[in-house]
Amino acid sequence: MDEIKRNKRRSCSFCGRPESEVGFLVTGVNANICENCAEQAHSIIVEAQRIRKGTPKLKKSDLPKPAQIKSFLDEYVIGQDDAKRYLSVAVYNHYKRLIQPEDDQNVEIEKSNIIMVGSTGTGKTLLARTIAKMLSVPFTIVDATVLTEAGYVGEDIESILTRLLQAADYNVEQAEKGIVFIDEIDKIARKGDNPSITRDVSGEGVQQGLLKLLEGSVVNVPPQGGRKHPEQKMIPVNTKNILFICGGAFDGIERKIAQRLNTNVVGYSAAKEAVKIDRSNLMQYISPQDLKSFGLIPEIIGRLPILTYLNPLDRTALRNILTEPRNSIIKQYVKLFEMDQVKLTFEAEVFEYIVDKAIEYKLGARGLRSIVETIMMDVMFELPSQKVESYEVTLDYAQKQMGKVNLSRLQMA
Ligand code: ADP
Repeated sequence: MDEIKRNKRRSCSFCGRPESEVGFLVTGVNANICENCAEQAHSIIVEAQRIRKGTPKLKKSDLPKPAQIKSFLDEYVIGQDDAKRYLSVAVYNHYKRLIQPEDDQNVEIEKSNIIMVGSTGTGKTLLARTIAKMLSVPFTIVDATVLTEAGYVGEDIESILTRLLQAADYNVEQAEKGIVFIDEIDKIARKGDNPSITRDVSGEGVQQGLLKLLEGSVVNVPPQGGRKHPEQKMIPVNTKNILFICGGAFDGIERKIAQRLNTNVVGYSAAKEAVKIDRSNLMQYISPQDLKSFGLIPEIIGRLPILTYLNPLDRTALRNILTEPRNSIIKQYVKLFEMDQVKLTFEAEVFEYIVDKAIEYKLGARGLRSIVETIMMDVMFELPSQKVESYEVTLDYAQKQMGKVNLSRLQMA
């Protein structure tokens, strides 16, 4: 009887709530704690431990050299040498800026934000994700399409930094040394070259907001992001040392490049210049002027001093993407089968066939996965319940599987 009474009276020694009101009560010798208080206590301890440990300092000896960064990128990304070199140097310099001693700042090293231009599916995001794997500073990828001017539906510019803060576990000092990749920067371009009188919700206003971040200023960041939590306390973050890498497809920019090249060559050794221009890949001639014609404001362009480009993927590149990267699509399938103790192999012609289809249906690198998926679907369904030790995907089989589907469906992928 006594035991029952005591149980009824049990409550959390921290918040005082009776056992009946809490989900779970952990009982000790002379005290109890409810699950809410236990969770809170845990986060307080984690925070205290983090502060005690302090922010890890970068050392010069730890810095990967640009060539090392590039060879790491080479393991995952096919081609795109120019972009890789620019990125490697930018990241290296970013580190150097971070370790510059406070008492040796007579030459202040300024940051050089980057902009990468290249058609969709050529590896911009992949480059950013890969570089993130080897960084020892917080890194985040944000999409510019969701950004709008304050007061409009969508995300405020400051939300870019929310993600970085989260990546840094809310350690502001760390976040202030981080790197942000802004994808689809072209989507906030002004429509047309002339400043519009009407309000351009997703265009110039957003660019002005972004400019503040790129230039380096103290920004009040909502720690939970968005506008869903109006009561949240803002965290001031200084963007002076944050490296921004922007990427965009800039659809149709080749036309602007061609126009500029055409006008430039008129009247000055025109014939000679014209011969040199490789019209199959105009992207390599991109200049800040073209970004302006596309609708980025000059101030933004000025704050993105490193401009680099990605090449369109040709046949050889697609073929290599299929099998060469460390986690290539084919290697992933081989691994999947290996986990079922099945040795998976492909007839060499199958790869050529997959590339043919990707080109024929203009699916690009993204389409390679859908094609392989289509070919492998039935095998993946059936093989795990059969007792086989090896399986070879033949050209015949691949053709048969592809014949079953309507390929234009894949074009949406
Ligand atoms: P982007 O950001 O330029 O639109 P992504 O980086 O998202 O393109 O590329 C889409 C997918 O295509 C990647 O996940 C990757 O599988 C493949 N891919 C594209 N380009 C390359 C490349 N150069 N090397 C290896 N894989 C690539």
